[in-house]
Amino acid sequence: MAGRILIVDAVATNRILMKVKLAEACHTVAQAADARGALALARSLRPDVILLDEWLPDAPGTTLCRALRSDPATRDIPVLITAEPDDPAALHRGLAAGADAVLAKPVDGLLLHARLRNLLRAGAEAEFALREDDGGGADADDLPALVALLPHRPDEAPRWRAALGPLTPHRLAVLSRAEALADDAGPVPEVFVIGADPADPGAALRLLAELRSRPASRHAALCLGLPPSAAGIAATAFDLGADDVLTLPLDAPDLALRLAPMLRRKRRADRLRASVRDGMRASVRDPLTGLFNRRYALPQLVRLADRAASNGQPFAVLALDLDRFKAVNDRWGHAAGDAVLVEVAQRLADGLRPADLLARIGGEEFLVLLPATPLERARALAERLCRRVDETPVLLPMGAGRVPVTISIGLAQGGGQTRGQTDGQTDGQTDGQTGGQTGEAGAARLLARADRALFAAKAAGRNKVTVEVDDAA
Ligand code: GH3
Ligand code: MG
Ligand code: MG
Repeated sequence: MAGRILIVDAVATNRILMKVKLAEACHTVAQAADARGALALARSLRPDVILLDEWLPDAPGTTLCRALRSDPATRDIPVLITAEPDDPAALHRGLAAGADAVLAKPVDGLLLHARLRNLLRAGAEAEFALREDDGGGADADDLPALVALLPHRPDEAPRWRAALGPLTPHRLAVLSRAEALADDAGPVPEVFVIGADPADPGAALRLLAELRSRPASRHAALCLGLPPSAAGIAATAFDLGADDVLTLPLDAPDLALRLAPMLRRKRRADRLRASVRDGMRASVRDPLTGLFNRRYALPQLVRLADRAASNGQPFAVLALDLDRFKAVNDRWGHAAGDAVLVEVAQRLADGLRPADLLARIGGEEFLVLLPATPLERARALAERLCRRVDETPVLLPMGAGRVPVTISIGLAQGGGQTRGQTDGQTDGQTDGQTGGQTGEAGAARLLARADRALFAAKAAGRNKVTVEVDDAA
């Protein structure tokens, strides 16, 4: 996966060497030689990742990192700092400044590529979401998380917990492998820290991949501790979805610092997913009743009719309309009318089966799709819906009144014949010529039939169900 990478390094040859390395993986590279230039480029280019050297001519790399983190335009761009190998404090300085990782020079190419793939993949998932994410909720980054500790030997757990506990605000839970993978194990940790067994480091990779693929832990931050003898599998760990890799034995201050960028990325991705979900939800729902809206329901009718045409199952379409609803508004007011719509929607929903679809497709008009339902079952179900609405008046909020309400329902039967049978008819008529039920035109015809039936129900006195059988069947 290729991305835009900003390299920040005072030394031209270093930038060129790094650029060559990155170009191997087809990344697009921009360069800056100092902190000022880097900040300007980061704001204008919005690179996917910034790779910066700790020693810059005009400001320390950590100062640049803090500046990037404090600007909403660059706040979420992952930052990797490269530092001198003989400077153990560099890791702490960099992570404390908000870097996502600190890499000792010379940077291992394999590991760098794996880490970049990992960051770019996570970034791409968020890409289609809100670019205008206002960072609302970023305060939640500081809330304590549940962090699961999984050392490979249970007797290490107390040491891990005792060393890490005083250094982090997070709640720590020691889990066995089985507990980590259990589906109903209560609250899911936001971070898993896994210690690899020197005798079998592959087991930790398998656990990592397993956690990454399970619905419950799929979005958790995963951190793998490797013994020095297994350092070679770090790149694989990133490719399997590790968010960070550290060296064992556990260095608790190091891990305490690494938790912050992992949690920050994880929680940002959570927020983006939630906002996409909310947006998708809002686009298919009617805000008053919470039911599906017309835009969602009509394509579902097309799908249902197409599916029925291939599997031969009968289905039914109900067009529902409140009776004399204008009079309700006139007598009780529009707000009361709204309350009646909400209550009727609830009663309809309660009277349907999980596979049925209920939508509000107009002001006081509803659509119900009943998949795999023969005519008589559909009619009985529709009649039950009428009774449900009719049998108890709607109580308006705050005792404002009791409103008697009834509905009329038009039923159109569809399906019950496979496409093959229809096509095989010997009277020379094809599905299209008989005005069949498939495609958008077919769905519109079904809906029109349900509407005609509804009209007939109104004409016959309301509060009843009228059926139009499939004239093509
Ligand atoms: P019929 O039995 O023939 O259906 O009579 P009706 O009065 O229900 O029919 P009509 O279509 O004339 O009136 C529908 C009324 O529904 C008109 C409109 O004011 C009201 N209405 C439509 N949407 C809403 C809404 O969202 N809230 C409220 N309170 N009223 C609505
Ligand atoms: Mg109407
Ligand atoms: Mg009406």
